[in-house]
Amino acid sequence: AAMRHLPYFCRGAVVKGFGRGSKELGIPTANFCEQVVESFPSDISTGVYYGWACVGNGDVHKMVLSIGWNPFYKNIKKSVETHIIHTFKDDFYGEILSIAIVGYIRSEKNFSSLEALISAIQEDIEEAKRRLDLPEHLKLKEDNFFHLSEGKTVNH
Ligand code: ADP
Ligand code: MG
Repeated sequence: AAMRHLPYFCRGAVVKGFGRGSKELGIPTANFCEQVVESFPSDISTGVYYGWACVGNGDVHKMVLSIGWNPFYKNIKKSVETHIIHTFKDDFYGEILSIAIVGYIRSEKNFSSLEALISAIQEDIEEAKRRLDLPEHLKLKEDNFFHLSEGKTVNH
């Protein structure tokens, strides 16, 4: 069920999250605006995915993505959060994030401690890095989807 919709391409604005302090843990997650979240297939599984991401017209980087239940909306709506495996100089709230979700790592889990949570995410990141080096995934990094917004007019 998790794989049925993949690869999944989407693009939208980065908004403020709900201050779970992801950045303080060293794993900032760029949250998509509600409109983008609502446009996701309603039956897409929650859990951790991996793929490619780019901010604005920037370079395409590896990413891990979490689709989870949004505590801000009493867990009736989903949240979609992307951790880009790259160090950025500045925050990019308000910018357009483009992502290609290409694979699924695991379902949502509850962790007994913050340390357990952090180490699970670090394992997710390592797993994502390895899998994204496979030729079938590398080719999606070059997909036209990521280059359409490079200052070109689409309708001419
Ligand atoms: P919030 O609760 O507002 O989502 P986070 O602690 O999750 O706060 O930090 C997310 C923000 O950090 C993003 O919206 C983005 O502006 C910034 N950021 C910086 N580096 C990254 C990165 N590598 N991946 C994702 N977001 C990043
Ligand atoms: Mg976040």
